[in-house]
Amino acid sequence: MKKRIGIIGGGQLGLMIAQEAHRLDASVVVMDPSADAPAFAEADAKIVGAFDDLKALERLGESSDVITYEFENIPGEVLRHIESKYDIPQGIAPLFDSQDRLREKDNARLHGLPTPEYAALPVRMGALAASAAEPMTEEEAAALSPQERLVQLASAVGRMGKPCVLKTRKFGYDGHGQAVIRDFKDIEKAADLLAVPCILEEMVDFDFEASVIMVSDGQDIIHFPLARNVHRDGILDLSIVPASGLQRNGEENGTCRRIVSACESFMRSCGYRGILAIELFIKGDDFLFNEMAPRPHNSGHYTIEGCTTSQYRELCHFLLGMPLTRPELVAPTVMKNILGQDLDAAKRIVAESLRGAGPGIEVSSPEDVDNAFCGEAGRGVFVHLYGKTQSRPRRKMGHVTFVPMTPEKYYSEWASRFV
Ligand code: AMP
Repeated sequence: MKKRIGIIGGGQLGLMIAQEAHRLDASVVVMDPSADAPAFAEADAKIVGAFDDLKALERLGESSDVITYEFENIPGEVLRHIESKYDIPQGIAPLFDSQDRLREKDNARLHGLPTPEYAALPVRMGALAASAAEPMTEEEAAALSPQERLVQLASAVGRMGKPCVLKTRKFGYDGHGQAVIRDFKDIEKAADLLAVPCILEEMVDFDFEASVIMVSDGQDIIHFPLARNVHRDGILDLSIVPASGLQRNGEENGTCRRIVSACESFMRSCGYRGILAIELFIKGDDFLFNEMAPRPHNSGHYTIEGCTTSQYRELCHFLLGMPLTRPELVAPTVMKNILGQDLDAAKRIVAESLRGAGPGIEVSSPEDVDNAFCGEAGRGVFVHLYGKTQSRPRRKMGHVTFVPMTPEKYYSEWASRFV
């Protein structure tokens, strides 16, 4: 009988896990709150249910041999309940550790990864001047007056120095729940965020951002070639591989080897298994941990066509108890995220490649291209549209991987086609 993989979360990551699981002859059950979740299109069975719906999670558990997750914010008590009953090969520790930015950074430091300076906010009154002040609970933060929030933030910014970044500890993603503080006006604007527990971070003047994606079977750890990531408005825009600044003559340079070694020992020391992505800030030869995700990562989409094996395949290898394979880069690669505002441009690329493709393929304009297109649109241009029914600016609708592609060529020949 086929092994059954249950996936909590039916977004694009779940979709691509499911596609790979099928290639490896496994079957897939997906659970998601929205009836039109992208991964349902690829699933053998679907369960519509909220992430804190224990009955729905139990149904997922009963119809799966192993469970994985592609969504991070599953409530802790729910996680503990399903962990005790079902096989979650990654465990829930990495998920729990990544759900709170304070816990995540404390944990990174504890296990040897340097981080930017940070401080929890708001803190218990009377402790404002102390260096290791007690963070407030959610209830205490909610009870603060606007004036108290302002005082807390202004004094913490005074200690941290400007510029700095205020982030909510939970449920933040793609720049949501974040405010950059450069002057007093920004403090006034950002203070409302302190209605929930936050973290204040120094603003890092990095040279560039990078990510490492690792998969561990508990003994060996493989890692994918590091991506150099370009963000726009807090959202990943491009992943470029190989990452200039981290390689030399086609090999990982000293900085890159130190990063990989630190990230692998972090993973070992935490006892994590399965997939783990770590985002980093790079400055000269130094690196700082920004955040981690125990699931396939947006910056690893490039591995589908850019590497000999992908992050999705290796996660499935792990889940199915199959040996991991070590990825090699096929050729220089650029991955472009397609947000709502880029969707028409991506469809135009598909339409152009299909024009004159032959009878039965009646695609002549972008409007004819389905929101769920997945295929090669011209040589070395791999378009993945996730099939989301609603498009809006800043929503991740798809991605395009160009391989072979250098950043120079991408910027001169392709960048102008997108918004
Ligand atoms: P995050 O959700 O924390 O990954 O933040 C989204 C993006 O905001 C990051 O990828 C960076 O481009 C930027 N950012 C976040 N935190 C900092 C920081 N402490 N210093 C500089 N840039 C930051």
